[in-house]
Amino acid sequence: MSDAVLQVDNLVKHYGDVQAVRGVSFSVEEGEVFGLLGPNGAGKTTTVEILEGLRNPDGGYVRVCGFDPQVSARELKHEIGASLQSTSLPDKLRVIEALRLFAGFYKRSRDPEELLKRFGLEEKRNTFYSKLSGGQKQRLALAMALINNPRVLFFDEPTAGLDPQVRREIYDIIEELRREKKTILMTTHYIEEAERLCDRVAIVDHGKVIACGSPRELKQRSGGNTRIEVKLAKPAANGTLKNLEGVVDVREVDGTYVLHTQRPPQAIVSLVKHLESEGNELVSLEIATPSLEDVFIEMTGRRLRD
Ligand code: ATP
Repeated sequence: MSDAVLQVDNLVKHYGDVQAVRGVSFSVEEGEVFGLLGPNGAGKTTTVEILEGLRNPDGGYVRVCGFDPQVSARELKHEIGASLQSTSLPDKLRVIEALRLFAGFYKRSRDPEELLKRFGLEEKRNTFYSKLSGGQKQRLALAMALINNPRVLFFDEPTAGLDPQVRREIYDIIEELRREKKTILMTTHYIEEAERLCDRVAIVDHGKVIACGSPRELKQRSGGNTRIEVKLAKPAANGTLKNLEGVVDVREVDGTYVLHTQRPPQAIVSLVKHLESEGNELVSLEIATPSLEDVFIEMTGRRLRD
């Protein structure tokens, strides 16, 4: 028997005809930051909501801190903290009131003043919720998730819709929690976020886990190749780019040719020569070091980004 904090085995959930989760399995150990990475509609939120006890599954086995969320919601409440995809509080609730209100829901809670300080909200303590910026609202949501000093944290798309600078502030907060060895399950559709914050990642697509491992393992599995993305003035003749020197694989994704190579300079030189000989032209060229995006493209033929 594993002593995993989270255990999910063959989880299934549908909404009418929509098969949102189709046999998802993974486990999360104490102190791990585990990410569900996938495009919109992949089934990430549904999975997390089942673990939080907010939705009932149609099949499969789920344990959170040893509890079945379907039958032990009351016990589970003291073990978990969650920030949902969109937190919505009454407009006229002040920051400190929100934290005190949530503290009152639990037998044991952390000091709201300490959380205000930690999440940089001291100056906003008496500000109405409606007057907070997006980043401040999200910091408050994360502070509220910690109010009962939970064993496990669920963060559903913690930085969605935030601008890059604010997103980095949230990364800092999550990295600090990671250093404190908090167990965290987070969902995201940002590759950078999963690579930077997560010890392990399950890549989810159409309700299934298509790959799982540490970001490094997943990237190595995808060959660890550099990606050269090119747009051409005219379509390349079938298969010709694959034969270029230094190129190990080519895929066409949404009109862009994605060349995989371990020798980028050779690949670029041979590409340019080839295009000249074909009377074709480069419209754009981008070089990307290996990322989880490659794993996704390799397994689905699609991009993860919208
Ligand atoms: P997103 O980040 O967009 O929320 P997700 O990966 O979290 O994506 P889910 O929200 O779990 O995905 O949705 C999975 C599928 O289930 C989608 O096709 C979605 O439209 C559908 N779905 C989600 N909630 C419901 C619901 N309450 N009723 C009907 N269909 C739903």
